[in-house]
Amino acid sequence: NKQVILTNYVTGFPKESDLNIVEGTIILNIPQGSNDVLLKNLYLSCDPFMRNLMNKKDGPKDTLSYTPGSPLGGFGVSKVLESGDPKYKKGDLVWGFTQWEEYSLVPSAKILFKIEHFDVPLTYYTGILGMPGVTAYGGLFEVGALKKGENVFVSAASGAVGQLVGQFAKLSDCYVVGSAGTKEKVDLLKNKFGFDDGFNYKEEPDLNAALKRYFPEGIDVYFENVGGKTLDAVLLNMRVHGRIPACGMISQYNLTEHEGVTNLASIIYKRIRIEGFNSTDYYHLYPKFLEFVLPHIREGKIVYVEDIAEGLENGPSALIGLFSGQNVGKQVLVVAHE
Ligand code: NDP
Repeated sequence: NKQVILTNYVTGFPKESDLNIVEGTIILNIPQGSNDVLLKNLYLSCDPFMRNLMNKKDGPKDTLSYTPGSPLGGFGVSKVLESGDPKYKKGDLVWGFTQWEEYSLVPSAKILFKIEHFDVPLTYYTGILGMPGVTAYGGLFEVGALKKGENVFVSAASGAVGQLVGQFAKLSDCYVVGSAGTKEKVDLLKNKFGFDDGFNYKEEPDLNAALKRYFPEGIDVYFENVGGKTLDAVLLNMRVHGRIPACGMISQYNLTEHEGVTNLASIIYKRIRIEGFNSTDYYHLYPKFLEFVLPHIREGKIVYVEDIAEGLENGPSALIGLFSGQNVGKQVLVVAHE
């Protein structure tokens, strides 16, 4: 049972040597009377939140942190080999919370959804039809309370969540601009995802001026994925009663001293609502989300770009690559094809 384990807690930017590939014990069957599910992992999802679980445990509240020597936990698509829970049977395909290894024994009470639509790529259940999809949908429509025709800005816009936020907002006839870290990614925003515009934040010496150029009338909804300097500049460009669904702040995850945000007074002047959320807040909407998104995928009205790495041994570089923007689209790791 090949596994990707954490070698030690991480401070600062993660390195490949913080993770290791080891041969773990083989799981033969599920314990008698338990409702665990034995999974063969097919596709794993590389997600920025996994970095935060590599931090040294800091008191009892941080029980989710990884344990050095143990495999990473994360989202994935898996095949059921055996199930102690009658909801799943041998051969079912599921997506949900599993571990970075070939075979995993997971409690069925963890996030686990039976896959029922097979006319779309199975890898989509790590992205558009999985956790990032629910995140974009819940964040934009529930937290962001998006209204037709509003001005929307999204950062990390070509990534797993960002590319969906922009496309969902376009379906609501919004004006949508995204920021991303390379020309190739900005081209994707404009030419593949149908954003109205996009810019490379690394080439903008003055983010405030850039935002003023793209949003002369201000931003109604900023879908926050990066934090730091981008958030600071956005605060100066929000419209009155603008909303900021705070999804992530990837620019801060590896810093030992976080960047200060200096324009917080705008929250008062502009009556801005900033609200943090977690994808787990919106899994109850998953059936409604599928009803919304599947027809658009089938009609080609929503597209999804994935970046596929092959083999568990390439897991460390794929995961760490998220923090230098190596991934173009949703970063998926293939463990097995079936
Ligand atoms: P992505 O697929 O967008 O991959 C991460 C991207 O972040 C990179 O490709 C890179 O793109 C960008 N990035 C990396 N470092 C920086 C930096 N210092 N400054 C600005 N951008 C940077 O990831 P996801 O779509 O999966 O996640 C996006 C955000 O959403 C993250 O903050 C994540 O933590 C959050 N999230 C939150 C969830 C929740 O439940 N609240 C659930 C899922 C995601 P580029 O080349 O453009 O810089």
